[in-house]
Amino acid sequence: MKPNNRFSRQKNLTDFGSEGQNILQRSSVLIIGCGGLGSPVAMYLASAGVGRLGLVDPDRVDLSNLQRQIIFSEKDIRKEKVLVAQEKLMEMNSSAKVEAYLKKFSGDWALEIAKDFDLLIDCSDNFQTKYLLNDLALVLKKPFVQASVTGFEGRLMSYIPGKGPCFRCLYPNVPKTKIGNCQEEGVLGPTVGVIGSWQALESIKVLLNISGHDKFKILEDNLLAFDFLTNSQYSYQFPVRAECLCQMDSKKIPLGQDFESCDFKVDVECISWQESCLMPKVKYIDVREENELESGTIPGGIHWPLSCLLKNKFPDSIPTDSTLVVYCSKGIRSQQAVSLMKGKIDHVRIYSLLGGINAYSLRSIL
Ligand SMILES: [Zn+2]
Repeated sequence: MKPNNRFSRQKNLTDFGSEGQNILQRSSVLIIGCGGLGSPVAMYLASAGVGRLGLVDPDRVDLSNLQRQIIFSEKDIRKEKVLVAQEKLMEMNSSAKVEAYLKKFSGDWALEIAKDFDLLIDCSDNFQTKYLLNDLALVLKKPFVQASVTGFEGRLMSYIPGKGPCFRCLYPNVPKTKIGNCQEEGVLGPTVGVIGSWQALESIKVLLNISGHDKFKILEDNLLAFDFLTNSQYSYQFPVRAECLCQMDSKKIPLGQDFESCDFKVDVECISWQESCLMPKVKYIDVREENELESGTIPGGIHWPLSCLLKNKFPDSIPTDSTLVVYCSKGIRSQQAVSLMKGKIDHVRIYSLLGGINAYSLRSIL
């Protein structure tokens, strides 16, 4: 393999050239989330010659991931996402340094790891991570490329320290709800593929921009929004909010105070169907709503709808001699339910079932 040939197509671009390539080679990016967005982002950045990539994700590959998380294959099911992705990226570009962090991005650890990278890239699917990343970018004065996909809609923006507005300038109030959920939301693979590819492109442009190579326009004061249902694309220019955290002294910015209550807590333990079968005594808890039960339930389980848990209504008798495994449709709401239960039930171990009832339904295939 001739090293000079590898990047010739992009080095031939007048506005990129060898200078652009050298900048990418010297750069490091931290990609949080190895899912639908993280797959194309990581693959394109490793292929483009970014010198060092950090991958953060605590999850394992599930069958339901394969429809959109294109870095994974059937043989990867149940393996740790970051380790599989690390191996794939090294195969794509053996000169790239790829670091895998099999951990939830949170707390002091997130601060410690983020400070060693040039660019933070949000490929997560929850508000906690998005706000934490934004605030880390403010504290550490790091650029931050943010993307999200909900249904057929995609959004993309960048934050450049000391320049444009931040994520909180646009979304000042931390939502008290989740981003979609497995009951309400679905997604097509190409939707996250388009946004993830655009996010990879924006990341390359930001890396060049912060290194003084300013030929490209970046989304530093624009939110780019796509509606794939109608083929519409919008660009919203938005200002810095005078009272935003990004206008504070970076040393005084609190980390994590206002988003601890949004989404589910971060200390939820997840378990696969197969692992739960190996446990001696398990009680399955179905937190789906009444109208979802006709699609099937796990025999012998208990029905405690999430809507009741959210109203602080817990069942009168809680098993004391069994491990509780909580499930919903795909394993998202069940994490929220486990988080709610943990404050009320402390005498048994509680897990969220990875992949939800779908994982149970697919047990014979797997
Ligand atoms: Zn701001």
